[in-house]
Amino acid sequence: MNAHSKPSIVPTDRQTLVDPFGRAISYVRVSVTDRCDFRCAYCMSEHMQFLPKRDLLTLEELDRLCSVFVERGTKKLRITGGEPLVRHGVMNLLRLLSRHLGSGGLDELTLTTNGSQLARFASELVDCGVRRINVSLDTLDAERFRQLTRIGDHARVLSGIEAARKAGLAVKLNAVAVKGVNEDEFVSLTRFAHERGMDMTFIEVMPLGELEGVARIDQYLPLSTVRDNLAEHFTLEATDYRTGGPARYMRARETGGRIGFITPMTHNFCESCNRVRVTCTGTLYMCLGQEDAADLRSPLRVSPDNELLMRAIDEAIARKPKGHDFVIDRTTRAPAVGRHMSATGG
Ligand code: SAM
Repeated sequence: MNAHSKPSIVPTDRQTLVDPFGRAISYVRVSVTDRCDFRCAYCMSEHMQFLPKRDLLTLEELDRLCSVFVERGTKKLRITGGEPLVRHGVMNLLRLLSRHLGSGGLDELTLTTNGSQLARFASELVDCGVRRINVSLDTLDAERFRQLTRIGDHARVLSGIEAARKAGLAVKLNAVAVKGVNEDEFVSLTRFAHERGMDMTFIEVMPLGELEGVARIDQYLPLSTVRDNLAEHFTLEATDYRTGGPARYMRARETGGRIGFITPMTHNFCESCNRVRVTCTGTLYMCLGQEDAADLRSPLRVSPDNELLMRAIDEAIARKPKGHDFVIDRTTRAPAVGRHMSATGG
């Protein structure tokens, strides 16, 4: 595939996607695989059943789907998974999508990764127009990392982060705050990130998918705890910095670095939601925390022009719910939705 073989797209106002609550949909997160080379304990069950390859959209179909969203006003595309960098040929997709950058179409093409493959792909990501990436890193302790990810190699992730920085990518670290796992590391993770010029973001555990033998309440920590802990070590100053996602940022005066807080549990940010998610099978979820979804794979496959696909997207956006209502407590046993984060795309 060649990035220059397909025309770029400039959206018109008429085509912009706006939901019933007046929110413009400008940010699409696309999962390119449900597979991952880690098995993070809060994300997946230990023995996940992955989708058969035949159910996945091809790279060409993913490109077509993403390009239709760009045509309809998407400004930010995040490639995710599963682990996006384990999808065979993912760089071809990124190269193709890069044609929408700087053409009045996309403002940003980015990805979220666990870092395991970054040493191999960092320079190529830059070539594809990627400027910033999110890397998930929950702990600086190699043994703890192995337990949490069940199979992950910590040293490999750290060298992936270094490779990304050397290649010129702006890296933001994301850590899920997990009770009893990394509670004592919020300060050290922040220092680690800021010493290397990276933003550090913390995320609350969400009740997505069943986990064997673990109750969500036993993993969950409100980020107010994280913030109180950080405030004992840093002077936290308010900032209005935004990246188009759900994080709210503060600055640590002592390091000059930013700390992001993503609080889907304690401070729901749905009123400003500009996002939808597409899975690797072409299922569109209008909300991370609701079951309603639209099948985009059938309209993609039924017809080579994009009319049916556009109609399916319009119908889905017209049903985008006001928000999620996640609950984690001792009495609520069922997750908010049955699917794991790795299936929807994180
Ligand atoms: N493999 C990539 C990675 O590790 O970043 C992308 C996919 S992963 C599902 C995306 C993000 O979702 C990661 O930061 C992960 O920690 C987070 N995540 C997974 N399950 C979660 C849950 N139940 N609650 C909150 N965050 C979760």
